Amino acid sequence: DFSVRLQVKGEDELAQLGKSIQTLARDLEYLKKERNEFLASISHELRTPLTYVKGYADIARRPNIKEEEREKYLTIIYEEAEHMQKLVKELFELAKMDQHSFHIHQSSTNLCSFLRKVYEKMHPAFQAKNMSLIYHCDGNITVHIDQKRFEQVMMNLLDNALKYSEQGSTVSIDVRTEKKNIVIIVSDEGRGIPEEDLPHIFERFYRVDKSRSRASGGTGLGLAIAKEIIEAHGGSIYADSIYGKGTKMMITLPKE
Ligand code: ADP
Repeated sequence: DFSVRLQVKGEDELAQLGKSIQTLARDLEYLKKERNEFLASISHELRTPLTYVKGYADIARRPNIKEEEREKYLTIIYEEAEHMQKLVKELFELAKMDQHSFHIHQSSTNLCSFLRKVYEKMHPAFQAKNMSLIYHCDGNITVHIDQKRFEQVMMNLLDNALKYSEQGSTVSIDVRTEKKNIVIIVSDEGRGIPEEDLPHIFERFYRVDKSRSRASGGTGLGLAIAKEIIEAHGGSIYADSIYGKGTKMMITLPKE
């Protein structure tokens, strides 16, 4: 059967076919490698909290341990379990996104009132760290967004700005309207991101400083999820940063 087809197909066409099969095989290999790396990262990320939980539970159950010591260990166990819960929740969200069983429900929204609400929710956390959060938005800008998802993205950006900045510094939310886009900018005066890390921060589990991110409850998945959500809105998200000076996170949404 193959030899018959060989006669029918021209040599060029066959060569083309061969190339396509080769590309397909390479893509499959790449996907397999990516999936394996992702699974390896998940196991790695779960191993640390599990080690803590197991170790501290073992100490806490000893009969002669002091009550205050036991409480200390139980608190660590609780926090580690919380971290795993967050990790599993975010992984599930990404899995849904990968399977395209993730739907956004967009509605016409007044951007300034929406951002005002986000600002009000986050303001106390900034005050608690002796930082200022300021917000500039005027005019009647309408955007077509999934409010719950978009809020999740904004909270994530503000949470990062808070986590990676020092006391006394300022974070601002600004809005710029361009010809075709609306741009929302979250700027901080924090530690910044080294140039070589900048292209990777939207990748799953990528963290510039693993221990610092973990200590502040980070999973390294926040920006990967934010990117999926913004792209599902037809927009884009990118970062600009000067190491040691601060970071600007920008979300671009197409005008209605
Ligand atoms: P994490 O849970 O670690 O914060 P994210 O996906 O939200 O994960 O961010 C990925 C990494 O990008 C962070 O670990 C941090 O190194 C870097 N990063 C994100 N936002 C900022 C920021 N505003 N300032 C400095 N570094 C940041």
